[in-house]
Amino acid sequence: MIGITVLGATGSIGVSTLDVLARHSEQYRVIALTGNSQVERLHEQCLQHRPQYAVMANEAAAEQLQARLKISAPDVEVLAGAEALEKVASLTEVDYVMAAIVGAAGLRSSIAAAKAGKRVLLANKEALVMSGRIFMDAIRENGAELLPIDSEHNAIFQCMPSDLSHGLGKVGVRKVLLTASGGPFRETPLEMLQHVSPAQAVAHPNWSMGKKISVDSATMMNKGLEVIEACWLFNTDSSKIEVVLHPQSIIHSMVEYVDGSVLAQLGNPDMRTPIAHALAWPKRIESGVSSLDLIAVGNLEFQSVDFGRFPCLRLAFDAFQAGGSAPAILNAANEIAVAAFLEEEITFTDIPDVIEETLSALPSRDVDNLNTVLNDDKSARAVANDIILRRAS
Ligand code: NDP
Repeated sequence: MIGITVLGATGSIGVSTLDVLARHSEQYRVIALTGNSQVERLHEQCLQHRPQYAVMANEAAAEQLQARLKISAPDVEVLAGAEALEKVASLTEVDYVMAAIVGAAGLRSSIAAAKAGKRVLLANKEALVMSGRIFMDAIRENGAELLPIDSEHNAIFQCMPSDLSHGLGKVGVRKVLLTASGGPFRETPLEMLQHVSPAQAVAHPNWSMGKKISVDSATMMNKGLEVIEACWLFNTDSSKIEVVLHPQSIIHSMVEYVDGSVLAQLGNPDMRTPIAHALAWPKRIESGVSSLDLIAVGNLEFQSVDFGRFPCLRLAFDAFQAGGSAPAILNAANEIAVAAFLEEEITFTDIPDVIEETLSALPSRDVDNLNTVLNDDKSARAVANDIILRRAS
């Protein structure tokens, strides 16, 4: 039996992961489930999956969960707080860790899993964006495995040779074609963008996801974070990554080789496919995803990206280029700006402005340890919040 911790079990990726695991209960044993505030959902998950540990990052929520489980499943040990997330990511009985906490909140536990030598199923792209080199070193130095859950990166992984230690050029890769749906506002008149509501922004045309990543998809910051993620995962610079709009989200990404071959991975837009792939790799298991009906899909379209419409994408390319702590600053400012947009404190088109102003206010620093990353993350949040307050007054 493979022991698994699901960090962020109550979220969209967490729920899809538990769906796949439930189909293979003879193979995988759930050791720990974590959430932040959704007590009712984590309680139900504990009753179904009977983990040894249930963690609530929020202490008050942990108390409520403890009170519920004391009666319904007293064998489940309830832990509270951010340190408990690191603990359940590093337990000896855990083989695999699904890192599916959203945002910077998932950084420490994702790295803890890498340091403990686990197979890390990485959905929490923000962790890799913030701490790229540190994260990759932790994987390599501790004999951990890193399997991408993002559908694009999982697709690229499936189309790539296994040894990338000497760079993409050495294995004959010419470029990576990272596909993007373009989100809900791909064709919205530019002058309307400042009036779009949070509800419109989170209504993604193809994928059902958490709120933060849905807004990131609408601004295409999600694609920007994915460009940075791809550079770290596949040991390349951003010049080899080309973003291609593909509104149907059927091709999840492609790899072009020097001989002109282009390998693609296709499938229905359902995160259970990359999750099942990463759980079973190098084998395959049933995921519950239906067969791809190409006749029903009919057409696959491709378009170039309009960087004017999606300034967040350019900001992400530039931050990766700047290096050091710039991607962590970009990520922190984006998290603050997206939260403010969801609270209707700023408009949709304010999001890139807040990020750009934050990046201009804070010079990027060399990153050689996690504390630098965490300090710059904190400073960027403070600066971004100030910018938002100034705009409101
Ligand atoms: P959700 O918002 O649906 O879920 C987020 C999870 O993180 C929940 O379990 C939530 O707990 C938990 N969480 C939130 N804040 C904290 C905190 N401070 N400390 C600990 N846990 C916390 O997000 P998604 O599942 O959509 O996304 C998760 C990650 O996966 C993101 O990094 C996203 O970019 C990535 N991803 C998601 C995809 C998708 O299809 N959804 C696709 C590709 C990547 P609670 O629910 O209890 O508040």
